[in-house]
Amino acid sequence: MLGTLLWRGLRLRCPRCGVGKLYRRGYQMYEACGSCGWVFEREEGYWTGAMAVNLVVTEILIFAVIFPLLIFQVSVVLTIILGLAVAILTPLLFYWHSKSLWMAIDFFLHPAPLVSAGRIMTLDELRRLLNAPTRPESESSGAQPSAPHPLDMDEQQRDVGGRDAGDA
Ligand SMILES: [Zn+2]
Repeated sequence: MLGTLLWRGLRLRCPRCGVGKLYRRGYQMYEACGSCGWVFEREEGYWTGAMAVNLVVTEILIFAVIFPLLIFQVSVVLTIILGLAVAILTPLLFYWHSKSLWMAIDFFLHPAPLVSAGRIMTLDELRRLLNAPTRPESESSGAQPSAPHPLDMDEQQRDVGGRDAGDA
């Protein structure tokens, strides 16, 4: 599962379904997956994890570049210039994947039902499925809005950090 998630992350796709794109253009992100509705920013401060991923990768790269230069005693100026270039460019160039890979890691640690590309449903189809009277008791009492359903998008929103509690 982690492999699937990382592969979706590398392709900058939704971790849940692997179809929806994460980025509109440039650094601009979609709020939710256009294919399965998965909300990308799971909670307030969610992207701190992506910044941490970016920082770790940047530091590893700086070390990987600087260390051989120091060993082979290349000129100090060149070492500093290359080190600075890596330190400045890596966070900018790795920005997209730091977020997508963080989403893959977070999805792995907090799993939700994975959606495979073969059986993507539209939101309307999903709602129709949920509202279909599959059980006889639901006909007598009608729809029960209080019963939380794991696939209910509003419930999903509420579960991930109380956006609705902003006014309270
Ligand atoms: Zn999706």
